[in-house]
Amino acid sequence: MKNHCCYDATPTSCKLVIFDTTLQVKKAFFALVANGLRAAPLWDSTLQRFVGMLTITDFIHILHRYYTSPMVQIYELEDHKIETWRGDSFQNVYLQYHDRSLISISPDASLFDAIYSLLKHKIHRLPVIDPESGSVLHILTHKRILKFLYIFGAVVPKPRFLRRKILEAGVGTFKDIATVHQDATVYDSLATFVERRVSALPVVDDEGKTRDSESRTKVSNLAAQKTYNNLSMTMREAVQRRQCFNEGVIKCYPDEMLETAVDRIVEAEVHRLVLVDRGNVVQGIISLSDLLQALVLSPAGIDALHS
Ligand code: ADP
Ligand code: AMP
Repeated sequence: MKNHCCYDATPTSCKLVIFDTTLQVKKAFFALVANGLRAAPLWDSTLQRFVGMLTITDFIHILHRYYTSPMVQIYELEDHKIETWRGDSFQNVYLQYHDRSLISISPDASLFDAIYSLLKHKIHRLPVIDPESGSVLHILTHKRILKFLYIFGAVVPKPRFLRRKILEAGVGTFKDIATVHQDATVYDSLATFVERRVSALPVVDDEGKTRDSESRTKVSNLAAQKTYNNLSMTMREAVQRRQCFNEGVIKCYPDEMLETAVDRIVEAEVHRLVLVDRGNVVQGIISLSDLLQALVLSPAGIDALHS
């Protein structure tokens, strides 16, 4: 990862959508969904530079902050421009952890540095910007980097610890897992996303058994299905509604080998596996952040995830 640069992980061709900050917020989210994208860099035409990213997390923040009831339209979503909303949010809720100007990386920087930046800043999108032209070449994600690592992994010896059990290796989160009950409302799940800053919540029943998993990405279905005006429905109902595109929860047992988890996560092209016991009760989460920390940063003596 130190020997390969971000440019090496850039595809020959890919779709990239950029939003001007004067675009209406609602149009921007609809455009993301319509293009099958999860994030777009934000261009400020007055400043003539990229000033940030718009992701599904931002959609969650808007819904969570401004939703009142199914009877009231979310004015801030319907009419606000991206720049108005960003100004408003920065001054209010966001300032706690969100003094975000754009975090980007140069195509010449190493993939090691890209992983460090993604984990350190707790973001999931890292634009690769050409320092000369100022153009965004690609948006790097954990998934893209892991795939790259996986392909190269085939020609280098596998580290021995991959044969250890997930729990024994301590790779993942095993305590204080944020979940959402299936009878809680969609709004409750958004509140948990905001409070806990996690990217997915196992949906559980009374016994803590996994029924589904709610990820930030799946929240974009609220825009796709235009159901963002009714966040008072239960998670059970929300899950049923989207059953046709639901791939179910991709799981793993904590006593399975780390190597199995890597294979499963790469094959299923997901961001995380929910760790469950044989009774399907949630035991933990293992995400791409945990894997990249364990596979790449820990061997170099660096902890970006927990520091
Ligand atoms: P998601 O998981 O929904 O794609 P992220 O975890 O990447 O979103 O984003 C979390 C927050 O950080 C969002 O408010 C998003 O706008 C912001 N953000 C994401 N990537 C960057 C970046 N490269 N530079 C600055 N802010 C970013
Ligand atoms: P992610 O942003 O999903 O890559 O995960 C960042 C860190 O949060 C990783 O250490 C995950 O194991 C952990 N994590 C992810 N989802 C949850 C959750 N629902 N509850 C607790 N920790 C989580």
